Amino acid sequence: MINCDPDNNYESMQPMKETNIANAVSLIQNANVITVLTGAGISAESGIQTFRDTPDSLWNRFDPEILSSLNGFAGDPQLVWDWYVDRRTDMLAAQPNNAHIGLAEIAKKKDMVIFTQNIDDLHERAGSPNVTHFHGDIKTARCFAKCGWKGKFEDTVPGIMPGCPCCASIARPNVVWFGEMIDPLNMISANARLQNTDLHIIIGTSGVVEPFASLVHNNARGGSTILSINKRPDDHLWYADYSLTGSAGWILDEIAKRV
Ligand code: NAD
Ligand code: ZN
Repeated sequence: MINCDPDNNYESMQPMKETNIANAVSLIQNANVITVLTGAGISAESGIQTFRDTPDSLWNRFDPEILSSLNGFAGDPQLVWDWYVDRRTDMLAAQPNNAHIGLAEIAKKKDMVIFTQNIDDLHERAGSPNVTHFHGDIKTARCFAKCGWKGKFEDTVPGIMPGCPCCASIARPNVVWFGEMIDPLNMISANARLQNTDLHIIIGTSGVVEPFASLVHNNARGGSTILSINKRPDDHLWYADYSLTGSAGWILDEIAKRV
């Protein structure tokens, strides 16, 4: 972990080092407790669009104010549901790639948990046992009114729009939209885990969505290590100790074969 001085004089920090597969393997082998944080980039090689990093990325083609906000949903729930149903279809048809599979292999040998921003279920389908979805998930829905129902998308009442099975309201996707709170229980468990982690691995996130982007920075203790994996050198989180630049699928496959 980088040492900051009490006055946040960042000039005193060690610069991040580009590292190699062999060192990443040794960091993993020497760590007792590993926590992995993933973003849309880890699912890109499964064919799921990221949000921001290419011209095809979702927010370069669709308006987040409408498709990913409470006001947008309240204004045109049919449009937002149509978009989520399409995304759900694409995500359920996608297959885990070598990055999801590599992490699941490492989890068989190490104490490892994953906190993901992704709403797809590719970590679980690859076999990772401990996955928390910080921004919700595409397989569940919840009541748009106040009855409190939350459950499987399949249990919604079919109609022009999915309905709540417990009251007369429409349902809404169970995802965290812009301006909404992260589930406090997820924050508590992430903070506790990260404070006791030896090795933090951050994969495929542009690091612009808070509070996720700062979770490791706010919690990593002295003596722990932060490894960033991203295909874009500029997107490594500034506070990482080590970076590995390249596609997550290739990198995790190479690491998993050696751990
Ligand atoms: P982002 O689109 O902002 O950034 C993607 C990052 O992944 C970039 O830094 C990019 O350089 C990197 N990347 C792309 N392909 C890669 C690859 N093959 N290997 C390694 N790195 C790669 O995504 P984000 O930071 O996760 O943005 C946050 C929001 O995006 C979250 O709220 C999340 O819910 C949402 N999101 C989720 C999915 C999904 O569930 N699969 C898809 C799109 C967006
Ligand atoms: Zn309801």
